[in-house]
Amino acid sequence: MFLLLLALQQSVADSSPFRALALPAATPARSASGAPGPRYWQQRADYTLEATLDTATNILRGKGRIYYVNRSPDALEYVWVQLDQNLFAPGSISAVLNQPPLRFAGGVVFDFSGKGFVGGITIDRFAAAGRPLATKIFGTMMRVELPRPLGPNLRITFDIAWHFPIPPYGGGRMGRVGSHFYELGQWYPRMAVYDDVHGWNTLPFLGAGEFYLEFGDFDVSLTVPAGFLVTATGALANPTAIRTPQERARLARAFTSSQVVQVITRQEAIANATRRVPGTRTWRFTASGVRDFAWAAGSGLRWDASTWDGILVQTFYHPDAAPWEEANAMVRFALKHFSGALGQYPWPQVSAVEGLIEGMEYPMVIYCPSLQKREDQYWVLMHELGHQWFPMQVGSDERRYPWMDEGLNTFADYDAAEAFFKGTAYGDTVRRELLGAYAATAVPGTEQPMITKPDEVRHRTISNATGRDLDWFWRNWIYTTARLDQAVDSVRARDDSTFLYLSNRAQMVLPVTLELRYADGTIETRNLPVEMWNLGSRFTYRMASAKRLASAVIDPRNVYPDIARDNNNWKR
Ligand SMILES: [Zn+2]
Repeated sequence: MFLLLLALQQSVADSSPFRALALPAATPARSASGAPGPRYWQQRADYTLEATLDTATNILRGKGRIYYVNRSPDALEYVWVQLDQNLFAPGSISAVLNQPPLRFAGGVVFDFSGKGFVGGITIDRFAAAGRPLATKIFGTMMRVELPRPLGPNLRITFDIAWHFPIPPYGGGRMGRVGSHFYELGQWYPRMAVYDDVHGWNTLPFLGAGEFYLEFGDFDVSLTVPAGFLVTATGALANPTAIRTPQERARLARAFTSSQVVQVITRQEAIANATRRVPGTRTWRFTASGVRDFAWAAGSGLRWDASTWDGILVQTFYHPDAAPWEEANAMVRFALKHFSGALGQYPWPQVSAVEGLIEGMEYPMVIYCPSLQKREDQYWVLMHELGHQWFPMQVGSDERRYPWMDEGLNTFADYDAAEAFFKGTAYGDTVRRELLGAYAATAVPGTEQPMITKPDEVRHRTISNATGRDLDWFWRNWIYTTARLDQAVDSVRARDDSTFLYLSNRAQMVLPVTLELRYADGTIETRNLPVEMWNLGSRFTYRMASAKRLASAVIDPRNVYPDIARDNNNWKR
């Protein structure tokens, strides 16, 4: 009898969305609170690189050194290096599978392919201590055999050289327009991440999945045509050699005023576009504590600058991109907003570059298109800027868990949008769109859980910090494709009480917001806690009031992803 009861209880408990998640046990590296443990470690990779942009052939040639420190407790016999440009190599997985572009709700299309471009990276040298190392390339990943195992706390310097043809449309994350404008990312061999959860992270770059990278310092020298303007991750280390006296004077003004200063005006940009300047110039940038380095270069660009709290806000755009005249103020607003909401922006500058890329983020650099609608323009700029926190500072594994940086960033974006458009008709609608859009895209058979097994500790961090048991939330939203359907089944009045019969008709659980309208014209809103569903999928809400109810509506503001709204209303 006892055993049977136990079995019965277990099977009931097993189907509840409130049951505890089976999270991995704490380790010396990762504590039970979700914070790094006393023995937490991360590898370190510093880069000193020199690259030359050959605009006649559209080939980028680079050489330099990677300083790699093994802070893990393991001896490494080999290392893995990311060769992202092999996304475009002949016979790459992406080329062979020829996947159609991804279509998002609202008509946005993302093409993560090279649109038929055939290229790929050539590694001209990968050596250590003057000796070439044995390498083996598997698509976008390269395994490099070390001359001897690299023990804990030991370091190795790789001497590297490479080149690749620059794709016109690099998977939507980099690219160029002809030979006069370049947005570069994934342009150098990047160390793969070695961590305590998966060891070497060798998932290939297929275009859609973004990046997972080690933190380090960069010292990068970029040689480009003399008439080009360049911006990059980091601060310009040789401004006196590069900037004209006029640019320096205007930048100095940008540093002392909160107003936007035109460092290169529209007229100057148009004149620069056709001006032929012979020769090349080398721009040197340094950055510390970043996980990546990107840059943009071109002729005929406008350049606006302002500062917020000592941080230089720069916008670079083509003279025909008129909506970008407000872009600097938009980025500046979002920088201030996110610094307050998520923590101070940690770097000396941020550059927003207008061009062909739909929206992409790198440390201190964001790529965004020019959009006619002011709301859309702000959203893209603000969203890409928000990535400076997630993942640029947090360093999450975007390839395995894109929902982490995209999810947290998008969540923060709603506040940043509401704040920017406050007082406008659009500003009042921002919150409504948050989750309601989900129902439109919840197509049975096409949904996927965000994670299939719990190997993350971030749930612990959030539960520890909020003091709330959110296992039901992670289960519904992250590990499964559960959907929401809340309903008011009926209402009955008896003696001095009113009974509302509510039901949860699908698998997802969320709190219930009820809007009650009474026969006397009064209206009130009641919030019921999510724990109501811990008692089963039906709940009777008893109100100690005999006031005659005219109607009851669940989720009156349409903010939940309810897949069937017709059962949310009850009317007398
Ligand atoms: Zn994003």
